[in-house]
Amino acid sequence: MIYLDNAATTCVDPRVVESMLPFFAENYGNASSLHAAGVVAARALRQARDTLVHVLALPPGDVVFTSGGTEADALAVLGAARASRGRRVLVSAVEHAAVYDNAHALAAEGYEVVDIPVDRQGVVDVAALQAAADPNTALVSVMHANNEIGTVQPIAAIGSWLKAQLPECRFHVDAVQSLGRLPIDVRAAGIDLLSVSSHKIHGPKGAGALFVRKGVRLKPLIGGGRQESGLRPGTENVPAIVGFARAAALAAAEREATRALLVPLRARLVAGLRKAFPDVEVNGHPTDHVAGILSVNFPGAQSELLLHHLEELGIAVSSGAACHARERGPSRVLKAVGVSQDRGTVRLSLSRFTSEIEITEALGALAAAVPAVRALRRRR
Ligand code: PLP
Repeated sequence: MIYLDNAATTCVDPRVVESMLPFFAENYGNASSLHAAGVVAARALRQARDTLVHVLALPPGDVVFTSGGTEADALAVLGAARASRGRRVLVSAVEHAAVYDNAHALAAEGYEVVDIPVDRQGVVDVAALQAAADPNTALVSVMHANNEIGTVQPIAAIGSWLKAQLPECRFHVDAVQSLGRLPIDVRAAGIDLLSVSSHKIHGPKGAGALFVRKGVRLKPLIGGGRQESGLRPGTENVPAIVGFARAAALAAAEREATRALLVPLRARLVAGLRKAFPDVEVNGHPTDHVAGILSVNFPGAQSELLLHHLEELGIAVSSGAACHARERGPSRVLKAVGVSQDRGTVRLSLSRFTSEIEITEALGALAAAVPAVRALRRRR
């Protein structure tokens, strides 16, 4: 199988697996225990936290380990809104469901939740955001890189404006798709809350983190012990957190090399597809995008059928977010950027393990699958 669905999840790097192994059967202590086994686990957690602080050059604050990106997003959105006096929450229209759905759930608690539109390339309308933000705004949440179309948002412009105009308002950035792929300047972008996830960067599933800038108040989602500064009760998943930190360090160290590999591979895909299908459209921004994500749409080809066809040819891709893969029709994100109903979208997402041969084979498979799926439609 040729795996081109790295925005959904990635393989675990063997170096990450190796870093985790001692924490299953040997150093299995509870990081809150006072005896030697607990001390070893607590030290591993501390080192993992220090690694994230270093890799992300974080300002003073807490790194709160969670079960993944979804929980980090939920803690940021629900936790910051509930701890604030403000009753207004702004989110971009293309946020991942972990932000979008949790923000909209706040409407039931009396919050006014406002969607900020994006243009056809998926870039958030900063003027609309500035017009919607007021002193009653508890939180603004805008992702760094979009998981479906790869578009990168102007988070520095948004964050610095918010800090100058509405210093009480909290700024959350979901960096799940940009960690290890783009530089993230938390200080310059005035970010108060930053979500990251392990399994998108060749780390294990079951670990993520929320950075909480010093002085930012959050209401925990659940009650329990005092772990993670009281913000995320529950015994920490030490092996996964150790693996996450190792994955983050590797992704940072190899970021430029990965980019140098992915930029030409993505360009080859685009050129090959344009040659085979002059009517193909690339979704998202032509230049401000993460190197590893390419979302394209083909007129007259249903997305679901295309994915099945490609699967039969040994190519694993998706149309958009894996967590909504079973829903029919264009996703909320594709609708927000104006992809019409009659165009089928395929998202190809690459990683540092993707090879040139795989790209050649994927192009060959698409050249066969698109006409086959179009022919099916004509026959019906
Ligand atoms: N945010 C974005 C942008 C994502 O792409 C994802 C994963 O699909 C998430 C949040 C959720 O992360 P996790 O799968 O670690 O819960």
